[in-house]
Amino acid sequence: MTISNAEWEIMRVVWTKGQTTSAEIIDVLSQKTEWTASTVKTLLKRLTDKGYLKTKKNGRQFLYSASFSEEESINNQADDLFAKFCQRKHVAILEHLLAETPMTAEDVSQLQALLLAKETVAQVPCNCIPGQCRCQEHVGVRK
Ligand SMILES: [Zn+2]
Repeated sequence: MTISNAEWEIMRVVWTKGQTTSAEIIDVLSQKTEWTASTVKTLLKRLTDKGYLKTKKNGRQFLYSASFSEEESINNQADDLFAKFCQRKHVAILEHLLAETPMTAEDVSQLQALLLAKETVAQVPCNCIPGQCRCQEHVGVRK
C-alpha cells in the first residue's frame, strides 16, 4: 500500500514520538504546514484505514502508534522509487546518490566493505516491457 507525501509527514511524527495524539501531531506539523486540525484528523483516519497506524483509546483521546518500523517503511519507499526505472539504470542512480549524500569517513568505510562483499552478476537483466526502455527496443517494436 502506498503512502502519500502528506501521510508521510504524519508518519514521521509518529515514528519520532513512538506514541502520540492528534494534538501533538498538529503542534509539530504547524512548524512546516498550514494544516488544520481537521486535515490532520482526515490523514490520521486514512493511515488507520490503510493499516499504517494503530489506535488506542486513552480517556477522551486516541493514542496513535505505527504498525511498521520507520526503517521498513523507508526501504519500501526506496524499492517503490527504484521500481519505476529500468534495473540497468539503478547503478547510475546509486552513483548519483553517493555523490550527493554527505558522508563521514566511517560511512564511506562501511560502504566500501559492502561493495567488496557484493555478489556480482555477468549482466544486469532488463526488467522492462519493450518500448519503455532502450535495452529492448528491438523487441516487438516496429522500426
Ligand atoms: Zn530496461
